[in-house]
Amino acid sequence: DSERLWDFIAFMSLESISAVLIIVGVGVALFVFNWKLAIFTLMPIPVMFGMIVFFHKHMHSIMRRRMHRWGKMTSVVTDALPGVRVIKAFNQEDREVSRFQQSNRDVYDEDVKIINTWTIFGPAMSFCTQVGVVIVWLLGGYWVIENWQYKQIHGVAMEGGMTLGMLMTFIGYMGMFYGPIRQIAMIDRRLNRAATSAHRIFEILDTAPAIFSSNEARPADALTGKIELRDVSFSYDGVRRVLKNISLTIEPGQMIGLAGPSGAGKTTLVNLISRFYDVLEGQILIDGIDVRDYDLGQLRQKIGVVLQEPFLFHGTVAENIAYGSPDCALEEIITAARTANAHDFIVGFPDGYDTMVGERGQTLSGGERQRISIARAIIHNPRILILDEATSSVDSETEKLIQEAIERLVASRTTIAIAHRLSTLRRADKLVILKAGDMIEQGTHDELAAKEDGLYARLLSMQAETQAVIGLGGAPGAGHGYGGGEGGRQRHRGHRH
Ligand code: ATP
Repeated sequence: DSERLWDFIAFMSLESISAVLIIVGVGVALFVFNWKLAIFTLMPIPVMFGMIVFFHKHMHSIMRRRMHRWGKMTSVVTDALPGVRVIKAFNQEDREVSRFQQSNRDVYDEDVKIINTWTIFGPAMSFCTQVGVVIVWLLGGYWVIENWQYKQIHGVAMEGGMTLGMLMTFIGYMGMFYGPIRQIAMIDRRLNRAATSAHRIFEILDTAPAIFSSNEARPADALTGKIELRDVSFSYDGVRRVLKNISLTIEPGQMIGLAGPSGAGKTTLVNLISRFYDVLEGQILIDGIDVRDYDLGQLRQKIGVVLQEPFLFHGTVAENIAYGSPDCALEEIITAARTANAHDFIVGFPDGYDTMVGERGQTLSGGERQRISIARAIIHNPRILILDEATSSVDSETEKLIQEAIERLVASRTTIAIAHRLSTLRRADKLVILKAGDMIEQGTHDELAAKEDGLYARLLSMQAETQAVIGLGGAPGAGHGYGGGEGGRQRHRGHRH
């Protein structure tokens, strides 16, 4: 869209100005030359401008519809391509192809309408100019003959009479007059496209961000990392509350484990702390100041996130580790990778730290991606750490390496972990159990495990059963996944941002 707009401004605006100047200049010349013929020349002009205005409006509405349908068609493609494996796995290629064909046909239909309109408009404009030319030929021809007959009878030319040379000159000028008018009609087509593009661009530019720094935002450069939630409620749609009156204090350096059944609001809670959304009611304070009063960029700089499905960008391993601090030296990257237990596998790659990881890190294994994302958080050095533990299974050796890396990462930082592993839950200073948006339990692992009718105690015993069934029994804390509730269900859903 912006390219189309640029193209119009860069090229068409000059052409339009010169076309208008030619129309005015030649129009004046026609009147000076022969005002009577000039009036006939101008006769089709109101009709032509009327047509331009009419077709402009008509085309504009078709073009807007076409753009809209084009957007829908591309969204079918952008939706299907990343999900190509699921499509193939469920043998839904035909359905996706027909979904695309339907949206493609919708675009095609609008294109046909545009071409049809244009097919009527172009010849209609030519017809008007030809009518003008014919009138001038007829009238001018009549005057030339009249003048010629007068000369035959009287031997001298009629005063103010028209000669063939004068008529031919006039018709030459007429061509110069109608040419730019037709050109303006052509430009109008491009103007229409550019106007539609401009409309779409401004739709995006004019969208006010929901989350922004206030004008009197405070710097967030020296945080100790104390987090306080005061009576926090939140709803995505303004109707259903996914968090209800949550109050919680996390001291600097403390580690909180968030647990609870699926859909309890754990992800939502950490999203509010990072200010991906603002609370509906209540307040979230960091170091005693409302998060909404901090400079957003600086605040996020102090918060590190390790997601359960780490997102890596197309680039080298080193670039991905240094993502939050692009200016850091290679030594720092290597130190972070060592701390994250990632150095050994990275140097095993043929290109070491310069190895390309492919789109979304597809050339790496899940365990490798996790450790790179831990290294990324280490180099970022945040005061507050949000850890969304992965539950996807990795072998016990890798699991141990990841656990070690996480332990090093959380040391001395305020950490909120959406915890699935017993090891993390045991290590947390406090556990917060959420259920359907309510905070139903709070305390240390031992306190909650001792509560006979407590949800946490129930989840623990369920997990013990699951482990016994799958024969992984082992000691609690060995690092096997606790599914955040409901019998060790595996989480595979990433953050919705
Ligand atoms: P899980 O362990 O399954 O990831 P969770 O405890 O992290 O669950 P949340 O992701 O916080 O749960 O979701 C809490 C509720 O909010 C759910 O009912 C979910 O459907 C809803 N929800 C989450 N994100 C959005 C969103 N972007 N728009 C609307 N509703 C949402």
